[in-house]
Amino acid sequence: MFRAEIIGCGIGGACAALAMAKVGARVRVYETAARTAEVGGWVTLGPAASTALDQIGVGEKVRAAGFPVISVSTVDTLTGRTGSFARTEPGHRWSSTHIWRKDLLALLRESLEEADIPCDYGTRADPGERTSELLVGADGARSATRRMLGDTREPTYTGQTIRYGHCPVAVPGLPAHVLHFWSHPDGVAGYVGDERDGSFWFSRRNVASGATADPDLFLDALRATPVVQVLERSEVSAPIALYELEPEGNWHNADTVLIGDAAHAVSPAAGRGATSAIEDAVVLAKTLRSANSIAAALESYTEVRRPIAQATYRPGAAPKVSATDLRL
Ligand SMILES: Cc1cc2nc3c(=O)[nH]c(=O)nc-3n(C[C@H](O)[C@H](O)[C@H](O)COP(=O)(O)OP(=O)(O)OC[C@H]3O[C@@H](n4cnc5c(N)ncnc54)[C@H](O)[C@@H]3O)c2cc1C
Repeated sequence: MFRAEIIGCGIGGACAALAMAKVGARVRVYETAARTAEVGGWVTLGPAASTALDQIGVGEKVRAAGFPVISVSTVDTLTGRTGSFARTEPGHRWSSTHIWRKDLLALLRESLEEADIPCDYGTRADPGERTSELLVGADGARSATRRMLGDTREPTYTGQTIRYGHCPVAVPGLPAHVLHFWSHPDGVAGYVGDERDGSFWFSRRNVASGATADPDLFLDALRATPVVQVLERSEVSAPIALYELEPEGNWHNADTVLIGDAAHAVSPAAGRGATSAIEDAVVLAKTLRSANSIAAALESYTEVRRPIAQATYRPGAAPKVSATDLRL
């Protein structure tokens, strides 16, 4: 039994707390935001995320709060070329899952309470003031824990900006639970729908650094798709610039380690950041259980996870994590 502190109760930090408690750690979590923080947007979690969430006892709840995404359908609007592939992966039981970010965070935080894991909300933790044997920096892409480990890099702009929209009604005529992509020379538009939860769409465009994106241009890409039927009734986000942080630098020392976006904030365009944070959490707990010391566990966690994080940066790469890698 060892004591651990986790900075950040986002997706990665909450999952790490549940996973580490499962392997016998006494965990305390610190979170700057309020317990009930209203966060916008949604995430699509990959099949490996569901496997990992099952290991920490929340998979069923997450799948019930969200809906499955079973396949992807692509259209190149310039050439007319189409394609499709499954959002399942060999060895993983469940397909991808689409869920509101606020619902995912709420049920992870409820699970911490059920497991008697204390979380101090409304508290900005200082990684220099740790009091336990292990400190986990799950404090996101602008991590103070990463700076404490000597890595002063900041996330860089990806050259892409996005707008999201939601309408309570699904688009008539488009199959539910299929992620549709319409690519065009300046970016891509996308949509996934569900009878209960409605239409979720986005438009991502190349926008030069420092340039101001015309908010209307984002919607033009959707006007040429069936999503036009719900566009006027949708609640639409402002343009959001997308940032990334390459998975380099120190991820750990003898008693401090980074997980999730703090270590490797892949562009949201990859749709993998949350899945990676959940995988990190479970793999970290697994190495802590099997290694002889905390320092050895952190070394071994980094050896396993860094190549996977690096692979997500290669265009078209889809790093596969097996169900065995995620078994606690
Ligand atoms: C627009 C957008 C769309 C995305 N879509 C997807 C998707 O479809 N699929 C997917 O897999 N990923 C997606 N991602 C990426 C995904 O959201 C992130 O990779 C994921 O949230 C990372 O989780 P995390 O817990 O590592 O970090 P975060 O979610 O950033 O959580 C960090 C937490 O730490 C807290 N914190 C920070 N500093 C301190 C401190 N000093 N003390 C206490 N608390 C602190 C913060 O308040 C925050 O709650 C998307 C990202 C964006 C921006």
